[in-house]
Amino acid sequence: MLSIEDNVRHVKELIEKAASRSGRSGGDIRLVAASKQNSADAVRSAYHAGIDCFGENRVQELMEKKALGAYDGAELHLIGHLQKNKVKNVVGQCDLIQSVDSKELMELISKRATSLEIVQDILIEVNIGREETKTGIDPSALDDIASYASSLPGIIVKGLMAIPPINSYESHEKYNYFDLMYKLYVDIRAKKYDNNDICTLSMGMSSDFEEAIIAGSNMVRVGTAIFGPRAY
Ligand SMILES: *Cc1c(COP(=O)(O)O)cnc(C)c1O
Repeated sequence: MLSIEDNVRHVKELIEKAASRSGRSGGDIRLVAASKQNSADAVRSAYHAGIDCFGENRVQELMEKKALGAYDGAELHLIGHLQKNKVKNVVGQCDLIQSVDSKELMELISKRATSLEIVQDILIEVNIGREETKTGIDPSALDDIASYASSLPGIIVKGLMAIPPINSYESHEKYNYFDLMYKLYVDIRAKKYDNNDICTLSMGMSSDFEEAIIAGSNMVRVGTAIFGPRAY
């Protein structure tokens, strides 16, 4: 059985290769270990194997493992859907909230950050496949929400996050979604709205992070390929 250490080494090699195919180096790609359903011990193992950034899906789980010191010394991101009543638990507690998908949520994060006198980094989650079952804003609403951030203190929009449709796999459609995301990213970066400092495109998971990198991603969220299959 491969260890977390072996897995981390392998994933980093693949990232390096994919990055070089797009004229970059592995150091240009941020690897976020998606640690949902994995114990604080497993998170520590990954940390000692060289992971310096973790992403959690559920606020409750994030808080529990954080209290155990699981992420000490590393960055922590929220990558799953954020409910409005949980905003107070994550603002100031994680380095990046990747899953901002409405103006209301943005406003609440802004209010909370302002009251804490901090600045919270966020990404806007785009529902690039326009799937009814998925969170994220419609691509056509991106400009509106990004420009809205300019009126909100205490937040900085650092970029975009997306999870393309899962069944687009075999058809190679996913590559098109990655390409579409890259275009949105370049466009919104060029707008230079206030409270926007667009430098991050978060896309790519265990099954497709190489393709995502080749399409221009500079942040990948990898779970299974690091920790092994999750037991639900
Ligand atoms: C679980 C998860 C990942 C990682 O998924 P794997 O397929 O295990 O790599 C990435 N992003 C989000 C938002 C996730 O929930």
